[in-house]
Amino acid sequence: MAEHYRHTKIIATLGPATESKEMLSKLINGGVDILRLNMAHASHQWVADAMWFIREVSTEVERHVAVMMDVKGPEIRTGAVDEPLDLSVGDLIEFYIDGAEPTGDIPAVTVNYKGLPGEVTVGDTVLVDSGLIQLKAIAKDERRIRFEVLTPGEMGSRRHINLPGIQVDLPALTEKDEDDLRAGVKAGIDFVALSFVREADDVKVLRAFLDGLGSSARIIAKIEDQAGVRNMEAIIREADGIMVARGDLGVEIDYHKLPLVQSQLITACHAEGKPVIVATHMLESMITSPMPTRAEVSDVSHAIREQADAVMLSGETTTGAYPLESVQVFRNIIETIEPSVERKLNTLIELKEPKAKMLRSAAVLAADLEDSGIVVFSRSGFLPYVLGALRPHGIPIYAFTDVEPVFRQLLLPWGVEPFLMEFSDDPDETIQDAVAYLKRKGWVKAGNWLVVITNALVDRDQIVDSLQLRQVKD
Ligand code: PEP
Repeated sequence: MAEHYRHTKIIATLGPATESKEMLSKLINGGVDILRLNMAHASHQWVADAMWFIREVSTEVERHVAVMMDVKGPEIRTGAVDEPLDLSVGDLIEFYIDGAEPTGDIPAVTVNYKGLPGEVTVGDTVLVDSGLIQLKAIAKDERRIRFEVLTPGEMGSRRHINLPGIQVDLPALTEKDEDDLRAGVKAGIDFVALSFVREADDVKVLRAFLDGLGSSARIIAKIEDQAGVRNMEAIIREADGIMVARGDLGVEIDYHKLPLVQSQLITACHAEGKPVIVATHMLESMITSPMPTRAEVSDVSHAIREQADAVMLSGETTTGAYPLESVQVFRNIIETIEPSVERKLNTLIELKEPKAKMLRSAAVLAADLEDSGIVVFSRSGFLPYVLGALRPHGIPIYAFTDVEPVFRQLLLPWGVEPFLMEFSDDPDETIQDAVAYLKRKGWVKAGNWLVVITNALVDRDQIVDSLQLRQVKD
């Protein structure tokens, strides 16, 4: 197995600490597979510029990354403030809905959700900024709520508000999301992560919108509240992948249940054969420290042992002082932990199509051979995604496609190493080109076994599915 090969993928969120061309090139060279653009804080010009830089740097360093636009969905946020508000216990603060006037006697900030005064009852506690600031409602009218500060903190612009257990009456896709998506599709995004997916229909709404824009971007449903957890099976069936968005999830459900919900989500994704991303606070301390805490190392290891497809960095790479070190820490943990995971294929997944069942045979055969790999050719990405979902430990999945967007979308699933290559009309020539490429780039060497899943031409005009065994020649 090539030295630089790993099964678990790395996602990094782009921000002020990493958006320069120089940092991007270091991040991409450092092993990031997918870059996330968080639309909570981004302008459309920033998206266009970031995409331009990313593609340019990828070409320069000859290592490609996919781009995931994270749209905020029905997320409640405070508006902009000129200066961060320094809140002490006992202070008063007012939230007023967009379009209303503040009372004017105490510090005030807008909220983007007109229904907030209706949802909050006097006496309720409202959580701001992942629960760091707790506010108690002490008075309200139809347009304003007055709070007393229970826990101190600094409140900057556009802080996220959680109302645990309350189903917010906002559409799955807001006008801002639609604007963001138009800009993202124009710039060429590969994935869309949708925040606060509450039911499968939310994913359908996004899919219809993307179809309307002519985009084939894959949809990652972020599970981050109680409704999302309740409806996980239907959501996973509808989406192309799931993100365990632990930042909000850890506030919206009892925090001590988070590890159980994480495991449930991962298992449900394994059963459906869909990719799953574990996100947030994975190396949080590395925002200010060059070393992770021991607990963080254990948390990342746990996600790898549970066989998540990808692990994600947020603040560590947006504003952190050690973004490159954080990526390196991910790589070190992945490389150390992956070989210790039990070499067992995914038994939860139900393979329906005969061609998909053939993939299990390919994985079993490859596991029986030493120094082997699987080579697969795909235009839609379906076969490599299923192969990744089968979890063939220690066996690289070399996926060749001639469709550029599919090539980048193959950067997410566990174990899949994608390559963009023209296909010849003769399937055998395509295989030979692929093997020669792998050898030239050092992925395989003479003597290695390759289990090849491809079409074969029989009787000059008939194409059949085939599983072949080839040994790399000198
Ligand atoms: C999360 O809540 O964990 C998450 C990934 O979403 P965001 O970064 O939008 O808060």
